[in-house]
Amino acid sequence: MKSRIVEIFQSIQGEGKYVGAKQVFVRFLGCNLSCDWCDTTATGDSQQVSSEELSVEEVLSRVDEISQGCHAVSLTGGEPLLQKDFLRGLLPQLKKAGFITHLETNGVLFLEFSDLVDNVDVVAMDFKLPSSAKMSACWEEHARFLKVAVSHQKDVFVKIVVTLDTKEQDICRARDIVAREDKDTFCVLQPETTEISSPLIKKCQEFQNICLKSLSDVRIIPQVHKFINVR
Ligand code: SF4
Repeated sequence: MKSRIVEIFQSIQGEGKYVGAKQVFVRFLGCNLSCDWCDTTATGDSQQVSSEELSVEEVLSRVDEISQGCHAVSLTGGEPLLQKDFLRGLLPQLKKAGFITHLETNGVLFLEFSDLVDNVDVVAMDFKLPSSAKMSACWEEHARFLKVAVSHQKDVFVKIVVTLDTKEQDICRARDIVAREDKDTFCVLQPETTEISSPLIKKCQEFQNICLKSLSDVRIIPQVHKFINVR
């Protein structure tokens, strides 16, 4: 079996709990959502985006070549879980080779995730707020996804992008869903990079206080890789 891969590269993790860690990134083509701020071409179709069809063995070999000193292999996109059958082959092989597997996901495809969860170590799960992402709400999907991660005792953290349009009611709803599963879930408020300004940071701080009423660890962390100009 093969999968469409946009790129495999080594860099530092720019978002979330493991920001600054040296990782290998495997970027899959295609996404099931369309967030307002999306900055990757990996959501496009294979006609428009440069990508290649690779087998599990080819991905493993490329990862191996560039993985020295890396903390983990980050599976990103797009949405990697769209490639469930391919990941069913790749994830156990990555684990067998001794890698920590770090899944970057939009946190919606809970059935696919349930199938693969045993071979995922770190779950970097987005919560898409309708007022920020400008799309329909995914509350039920996010709740079920997080339940899978927490019930399997995964190292899961939640990332919420905050824009100038983000509504307090959405933050409260996300907070309550996370708190219901596990109030100690590491939670990141990520200010939208193109809107970073004093008003946006002030808003993040207000939202941090709101989240800290029910959650134990809520941090404001921007996309660090954008500031230091690495991909
Ligand atoms: S889930 Fe991620 S890759 Fe998909 S559209 Fe949203 S930001 Fe882009």
